[in-house]
Amino acid sequence: MTNVARPVAQVPLAQPNIGPLEVELVNQVLASDSLAMGPFTEEFEAAVAELAGRRHGIAVSSGTAGLHLAVRALGIGPGDEVITTPFSFVASSNCVLFEGARPVLVDIEDEYLGVDPAAAEAAITERTRGILPVDVFGNPCRLPELASLADRAGVPIIEDSCEALGSSLHGRPLGGWGDIGVFAFYPNKQITTGEGGMVVTDDDDLAGAMRSMRNQGRDEDGTWLRHVQLGFNYRLDEMSAALGVAQLRRRSELKAGRDRVLAAYRRRLGEHEWLRLPEPMRGAEVDWFVYVIRLAEGVNRDRLIDQLAGRGVPGRPYFSPIHLQPFYRERFGYGPGDFPVTERVAAGSLAIPFSSRLTDEQVDQVCDALVEAVGEQGAG
Ligand SMILES: *Cc1c(COP(=O)(O)O)cnc(C)c1O
Repeated sequence: MTNVARPVAQVPLAQPNIGPLEVELVNQVLASDSLAMGPFTEEFEAAVAELAGRRHGIAVSSGTAGLHLAVRALGIGPGDEVITTPFSFVASSNCVLFEGARPVLVDIEDEYLGVDPAAAEAAITERTRGILPVDVFGNPCRLPELASLADRAGVPIIEDSCEALGSSLHGRPLGGWGDIGVFAFYPNKQITTGEGGMVVTDDDDLAGAMRSMRNQGRDEDGTWLRHVQLGFNYRLDEMSAALGVAQLRRRSELKAGRDRVLAAYRRRLGEHEWLRLPEPMRGAEVDWFVYVIRLAEGVNRDRLIDQLAGRGVPGRPYFSPIHLQPFYRERFGYGPGDFPVTERVAAGSLAIPFSSRLTDEQVDQVCDALVEAVGEQGAG
């Protein structure tokens, strides 16, 4: 008799939550003749703008496309510098490179993991044309301090709120703090459109410029073969917009699912010395995008990832710093030691499974696996 090990059930790291309403609205689009730039796109734009407390919402094909439009609409180009963070997804820095400007990376602060306002201030030069901070994992970065710095320096803020739809600070929605805010709707975000994003702003001129550049540089009335400036095809299609409308209508249900998982993690993991759970910034209401725990020095993170995998639990380093990406090291000569806080935080961070659909049994499996694995390391 061979001894066949019972397969371990796999817990998903992230999962979209698609229900009958999504299917119904997408089917409505498919049965119509409007597969692009139709009524769902307008409804989705209005709904996201309202959620962010802004006058304008412009739907785009990805968060990255939205960041690119923001940089371009602000007239940032060759010779200009934009202050931003190495503790992010690579798009928040790449969007500056798209326009031939220089992303000036500065270190983060240890608590909420956004741009350190003092480091940003020290990096201001006469070439600075903007600050592009990131709201990390759904938590705000130090927005009031950064807004006051930007004000003093006379430069705009592009708020990368791609991970922060539905979060707020002192009652003001994230995405609503910069001159332009950007959201993203990839399948692991709080709501999804498949691929997709949205730029939001209160500024009529910036909104007009981004609307035009999203749509091949057409003018406001969208005349088909009249192009008034260099533009792109960054439009969101109507099926994706319908998906977004359905997800927004279900937002409180999706958030309730995530809150249930949060409460369970807090109950099961809150008392352990070897990890730090994510905490909302004081004054913030946070709808988390991912659940990233921070491990004490004594825990070997990379070994832990292997131990968890053997128990059906995926874990991922989050983020992997931008300045240590091969492309950035080669292009700018960055290396280990350049941003010590970012590197220390990144080395001890672990994203564990998180979604509105995680069952109580799956949460138990994750917590049991973590506690056992850390115990095996002798670190528990
Ligand atoms: C998701 C995300 C983006 C945009 O991602 P897309 O895949 O282009 O939609 C940008 N910045 C951050 C910090 C993100 O997490």
